[in-house]
Amino acid sequence: MPAKTKTDYYELLGVSRKASTKDLRSAFRNLARKYHPDLNPGDKSAEEKFKQIQEAYDVLSDAKKRQMYDQHGFYSEHFPGGAPGDAQEGPGGVQFDFGGFDFGGGGGTSFRDLFSQFFRGGTSAESSVVEREPGGDLEYQLEIDFQEAVRGIVKKLSVVRLDGCAACHGTGAIGSPQTCTACNGTGVIQQAAGRMRFNVPCTRCGGTGKLRTPCRTCNGEGRVRRTETIDVRIPAGVAGGSRVRVPGKGNSGTMGAPPGDLYLRVEVKPHPVFERKGDDLFVEVPVTVAEATLGAKIEVPTIDGRSVVRIPPGTNSGQRLRLREKGVPSARSGTRGDQYVEVQVVVPKPTDERVRTLMKELESVAPDDPRKDLFTKAGV
Ligand SMILES: [Zn+2]
Ligand SMILES: [Zn+2]
Repeated sequence: MPAKTKTDYYELLGVSRKASTKDLRSAFRNLARKYHPDLNPGDKSAEEKFKQIQEAYDVLSDAKKRQMYDQHGFYSEHFPGGAPGDAQEGPGGVQFDFGGFDFGGGGGTSFRDLFSQFFRGGTSAESSVVEREPGGDLEYQLEIDFQEAVRGIVKKLSVVRLDGCAACHGTGAIGSPQTCTACNGTGVIQQAAGRMRFNVPCTRCGGTGKLRTPCRTCNGEGRVRRTETIDVRIPAGVAGGSRVRVPGKGNSGTMGAPPGDLYLRVEVKPHPVFERKGDDLFVEVPVTVAEATLGAKIEVPTIDGRSVVRIPPGTNSGQRLRLREKGVPSARSGTRGDQYVEVQVVVPKPTDERVRTLMKELESVAPDDPRKDLFTKAGV
């Protein structure tokens, strides 16, 4: 008969709601070691507890069932009215609900069978067996100068990454597996409970009968943390905030799985003179009243050096002149943006007596009111 408990499955297994399949398996394994009826003969509460954790594991380890459980707070098959075929007659007339597991015909499943069917090894053996897992991506921040971003640069970067262990070739174990001395390779040892003895999986080798020697260099992880200096090529024209990918320089995968990538989030320091918008550059250039009025050829700074710009006669403050293809090379196409020169007319110092005289004369020659149109448009 299915367990009628409504205890939270996650709480039962002692895992978070975000627990991975691996977390669940390991939680279940630990609890099964504690509560399996074979290990607790005659203990009804352990039996009940085992049924519950079995049920919780059955639901949570199945993606579809888990989704249903997360949504509704229960999984229907395991509540009253669920599939009767799930129940099996256990030893001593105790009914076990093994949920979706198929343990084969006959009575209850011994701890040993459960162990070998689902866990393929216990703690000691598993710790020295590395699972195949792709290396994760790494992300670093890199601050570069404005000019470095414009021209592109190769930077040396110190990166801490997980690299395959050379000592064990990433397997986490050294040498060939040895026969377990605790169980003589049978995978089973005897455990005493009162005056009775029970066969249980060997705790030394986890029931595999074999012992592997964990690699000392990587502590059986198959990977070691290593600081590596990597030459990173930052392409010309890279924009602030963009990510540059360095393929294969993330963490190494284990057991031959592919490595991750290294991503660099590029920050560009601001320039005191140039402002960048896309691939175009903007620079404010002061000109005198005479240059603005009469026109002039002046020198302006560009990222290539100095360039000559012609200021047309009658240029006002705020007017923009375009220098074609003097901007930043596009990181994608390589074609350059433009540079815009924004004219800033600088008035002469009014403290100079000759300047005051000349300005008064200018006023008498060109007495136009520059605000005439403004009032007309404003309607005041
Ligand atoms: Zn190693
Ligand atoms: Zn053993």
